[in-house]
Amino acid sequence: MIDLRGKRALVTGGSRGIGAAIAEALAERGADVAFTYHRSVEKAAAVAKKIESRGRRAVAIQADSADPNAIAQAVEKAVSVLGGLDILVNSAAIGHAGTIADLDVEEYQALMDINVRAPVLFAKAVIPHLGEGGRIITIGSALGERVPFPGITPYAMSKAALTSFTRGLSRELGPNGITVNLVQPGATDTDANPADGAAADFQRSLTSLGRYGEPREIANAVVFLASPAASIITGATLTADGGAIA
Ligand code: NDP
Repeated sequence: MIDLRGKRALVTGGSRGIGAAIAEALAERGADVAFTYHRSVEKAAAVAKKIESRGRRAVAIQADSADPNAIAQAVEKAVSVLGGLDILVNSAAIGHAGTIADLDVEEYQALMDINVRAPVLFAKAVIPHLGEGGRIITIGSALGERVPFPGITPYAMSKAALTSFTRGLSRELGPNGITVNLVQPGATDTDANPADGAAADFQRSLTSLGRYGEPREIANAVVFLASPAASIITGATLTADGGAIA
């Protein structure tokens, strides 16, 4: 049984979908959890309530991942309310659909700011607070490794960058006993990619298991990597995609 009692976690994008499942799963295992959100005020309040119903402390922080100042302030708030941090989970991200030929440069920049720069800045702000046994876990995508259809190139690029981020940062933080890992979901049933959406059957057909993942299944991978049971695992990628890139 994984026991995270006494651990303090910060999850980005915890108001909905995979991030919300991660925040709730960490709390279920005993962690106090701060999480960021952008627009979903009511959903964030509902997630905070669920965390508190487990007897854990919850801190919902409105912070746009595109804004470096908001990121620094979010980390400061999480640290001051929880009294420190042991686990960072970078989950907030946005999607992007369209070809390179039709690329809008501002949309591209927003994608890179939120999906790539923000995880880097969250890590930079959290590192001074992490001690021995600290964890940095980032949510990438199986599309970062295999791009099975056109129209998702910039999104796939943004997720591929997280592999090198994870590997490089594991080298920097290994001497401090801090592990850094990447979880790559495949199609997972959330607002961003509903299991009854137009492209859902096609995505299912790419998998070995013939189905979507549930947010909770991705959270299970994160909980494992956050736990002492994963102490030797760092710089690694754990793909949780039902076999889509097998
Ligand atoms: P959702 O779109 O369902 O949820 C996104 C979450 O990120 C929300 O909590 C949202 O906050 C937050 N967020 C978005 N933009 C910002 C921002 N600018 N600042 C702060 N928070 C922000 O996404 P998923 O749950 O599907 O995805 C979670 C992660 O999993 C992402 O990294 C995604 O790339 C990855 N992933 C998802 C897959 C899937 O099939 N669902 C497949 C592979 C990877 P708010 O609600 O306030 O807007």
